[in-house]
Amino acid sequence: MAENEITFEPDDRYNAFLTVCNRVSHGKGKLAGITVAVKDNISTKNIETTCASKILKGYVPPYDAHVVELIKKEGAAIVGKTNLDEFGMGTTTENSAFGPTLNPCDTTRVPGGSSGGSAAAIASGMVRMALGTDTGGSIRCPSAFCGIVGLKPTYGRVSRYGLIAYANSLEQIGPMARTVSDVSLLMQVIAGYDRRDSTSYNKPYTHTPKADIKGLKIGIPNEYFGEGVDPKVANVVKDALTQLEHLGATTVPCSIPSMEYALAAYYVICTSEASSNLARFDGVRYGPAADTKKSWHDSYQEVRRAGFGTEVRRRIMLGTFALSSGYYGKYYAKAQIARENVRKDFARIFSEVDVIVGPTMPTIAFKLGEKSDPLSMYLADILTVPVNLAGIPAISLPCGKVAGMPVGIQIMGKPFDDERVIDVAFAYEQAVK
Ligand code: GLN
Repeated sequence: MAENEITFEPDDRYNAFLTVCNRVSHGKGKLAGITVAVKDNISTKNIETTCASKILKGYVPPYDAHVVELIKKEGAAIVGKTNLDEFGMGTTTENSAFGPTLNPCDTTRVPGGSSGGSAAAIASGMVRMALGTDTGGSIRCPSAFCGIVGLKPTYGRVSRYGLIAYANSLEQIGPMARTVSDVSLLMQVIAGYDRRDSTSYNKPYTHTPKADIKGLKIGIPNEYFGEGVDPKVANVVKDALTQLEHLGATTVPCSIPSMEYALAAYYVICTSEASSNLARFDGVRYGPAADTKKSWHDSYQEVRRAGFGTEVRRRIMLGTFALSSGYYGKYYAKAQIARENVRKDFARIFSEVDVIVGPTMPTIAFKLGEKSDPLSMYLADILTVPVNLAGIPAISLPCGKVAGMPVGIQIMGKPFDDERVIDVAFAYEQAVK
């Protein structure tokens, strides 16, 4: 075996990987020889990329996503593609067309989603780092449920070129790992300008975490500790806040009244964008070949009915409805107003505090199959989606346990203040380790 090659054998118990690269070569650089897993909605040249959907089974991208180019350039060993909810639509990884991923902390529970495969690969020790994507919590939720660290960067800080789009205006690619330092290291590599993403900002990330948070002002929104949040989870996060106070931070209560409409706005916007993005999967360029003898309408319908899972079909229908003439003003336009109110609430609070802190998820990881109706599944996203609506950065890191399962604390920051979010997380991690 060549010197710059490693062999990789995943632990199949968790179903974390959809594609495994058994013999991997790596280069020199910041990530030299470090094992990195890539969520399977991020394009990898010559490696199958399915979005955990039957419609993309067998699709091998002819190019790398911007972030994949960057990690390769820094010598990473890309060991495989990780499982997710089909196209990123879900909170548990149970919506994968290729079976759910199991939580390494308790295999009767879900790992969270949609980047559940990436989180499980890290939590089980199979890889050191992974790339995830976060449209409404998909990096932070599985990080919380599996007891690892995950950052949703400020919108625009990491290029989305090569990410197979679910909801463009909300999603970001971000780093996941076991420690804040590793998350920061991977962020150094993937952040920065890319002309191929029209929403990309020229804001490279060159930071190394610092543990000093003396004088830091933390906003505590009452909505993050109220109705719907398991009091045991809330208490673990409150203890972590006390720890941050011991380190020199002060806490101030605050309120995000627009949260009342945040979840509804999120599900109107993400389904609307999804209905448009997913229209391209027609069986002509992608997916199982359509029967060309049939009319376009019939073959389009047939390919999509066979290729998409239940949740994806539900969302395409919801989004198409929300955008249709006569309903557009009633749903989509209203959702955009609610979104703007969320952004304004955050801006108002951030004029007085440095970061906002609360739980990442309202509960610990669910049992497999526990959330059987879509609405109760959507409700679990209540504490993560406001961040995506506002485009701000947020990290989740472990802060304790309830019933033996990890609890995540979520630290939210001002736009382009990803560095501060990392520092607060680092200070906490160093203090409790
Ligand atoms: N659970 C949310 C959804 O289903 C978030 C998913 C994500 O961030 N990709 O849309």
